[in-house]
Amino acid sequence: MTDLNRDALATRIEGKRDELITLTQDLIRIPTLNPPGEFYDDCVRFLGERLEKRGFTIEYFRAEGTPGDSDRYPRMNVVARREGAAPGPCVHFNSHIDVVAVGQGWRQDPFAAELIGGRIYGRGACDMKGGLAASVIAVEAYLEENPDYAGAIEISGTADEESGGYGGVAYLAELGVMARPRIDHVIIPEPLDKDRVCLGHRGVWWAEIETKGHIAHGSMPFDGDCAVRHMAAVMQRFEAELFPLLASKRTSMPVVPDGAKQSTLNINAIHGGEAEEFEGLPAALVPDSCRMVIDRRFLIEEDLAVVKREVSDLLESLKSERERFDYALRDLFEVIPTMTEESAPVVQAVASGIEDVLGKPATMVVSPGTYDQKHIDRIGKLSDCIAYGPGILTLAHQPDEYVEVDDMIDSAKVMALALHKLLHGLT
Ligand SMILES: [Zn+2]
Repeated sequence: MTDLNRDALATRIEGKRDELITLTQDLIRIPTLNPPGEFYDDCVRFLGERLEKRGFTIEYFRAEGTPGDSDRYPRMNVVARREGAAPGPCVHFNSHIDVVAVGQGWRQDPFAAELIGGRIYGRGACDMKGGLAASVIAVEAYLEENPDYAGAIEISGTADEESGGYGGVAYLAELGVMARPRIDHVIIPEPLDKDRVCLGHRGVWWAEIETKGHIAHGSMPFDGDCAVRHMAAVMQRFEAELFPLLASKRTSMPVVPDGAKQSTLNINAIHGGEAEEFEGLPAALVPDSCRMVIDRRFLIEEDLAVVKREVSDLLESLKSERERFDYALRDLFEVIPTMTEESAPVVQAVASGIEDVLGKPATMVVSPGTYDQKHIDRIGKLSDCIAYGPGILTLAHQPDEYVEVDDMIDSAKVMALALHKLLHGLT
């Protein structure tokens, strides 16, 4: 590789092991819980102050007016940019700073970030403060080893990925900050394993189905019309027709795990009748409304209009067959699937870095769930984007989440090599 001593770069990253551990711990100890979106400002300023000392120009962005933004919980983002010695492409590392709720079942303190047996434990350790720390160390080591690089390097810490990314990457993409032509290549260090390149994700359609009934005294249900029984009829059709149909749809996308290589549908929730917010006993009532929230994940081979029609056709056919059946179907949220070509420069650069560092070919994967790549692709019009980072995907959002220090070191080496290739057009 031109003008880069790879062994020296690897040695330099290994020499930063303690610094990497401290940085990861410092990040985990800022409890950026989302919801509500706490301590974003502390986290972005912590990152900004560190990178400013390394010659980066720092910009802070508050995504005013986006969901959840308030003076108490401002949706804060940071973008750090460092120009090279000559003009050239811009390589951007994007990490979300927010973490999901702690939940039950922890044996470790979720915000103590303890180092035990080569692992750092904590909420966000793998998703994705470990990846963020690894990318920062990769870039800092690269700058020391190759200060005369061409192009520009950017590192961002963004808000709200766990709640859709509207106060984070989507906002910055709309502003033209995380978009073409300002940026050429993006690596998102989400926890997909150090030997895998994540090309994209499946699509999402969330919707609410409401069945309608007629309220009456519970002792005389024949005078009313039970919305819950109508919903049971919907469920029966799902079981008999929709789930088998979805299981028959297979994708050529390399989705992991295997179970997600087909279309899936989760029933998120069902609410029927009066809510149990009473003291004492409930009133005797026939439910006049029942609502179901569905989470349909679809494949790149599927068309969103067809995905929706499968459900609406099923409801229409029930309406024509079942007495007094009436319903409403409401869209809640949708994301189109995205998948970067394997021949794209960022894929090739990271894959060759994996081969160099780990001595084996990279595995190409697609994520079962979405992440911020959707906004970079659709709003930012930038398709040269992947997810690559340390940590095990299935640990994300779990109790006793952790990241392995060795994995962070290896992936930092991969990221630094990929950075060099992308800056100098060596893919
Ligand atoms: Zn994540």
